[in-house]
Amino acid sequence: MAARGRPAVQLGAPSVSATYDVIGEPGTVPVCSRAGCDAPASWRVNWRNPRIHAEDRVKIWVACDDHRGFLADYLQSRAFPVRVTGIAEDVERLDDRAV
Ligand SMILES: [Zn+2]
Repeated sequence: MAARGRPAVQLGAPSVSATYDVIGEPGTVPVCSRAGCDAPASWRVNWRNPRIHAEDRVKIWVACDDHRGFLADYLQSRAFPVRVTGIAEDVERLDDRAV
């Protein structure tokens, strides 16, 4: 059985690397935010770092089916509010206890 827990892969610090302007380009398919993954994304991982982001700030990663859980777990392991939604769904804000 595969060990589940902290991912061994480095994603970098979310606070500096997590702005992906992949949404909003008409006609393009967003690509998964997971480093090294080229799969088309069908999910948004909406998150916020409560230490540096105001409550109405929402950062967005996008994820393919395979990495949706990986990215959400990565953020949740840091106690960030995270909400996974469909790729076309907007999240206005993330409350601290959104998880
Ligand atoms: Zn992926």
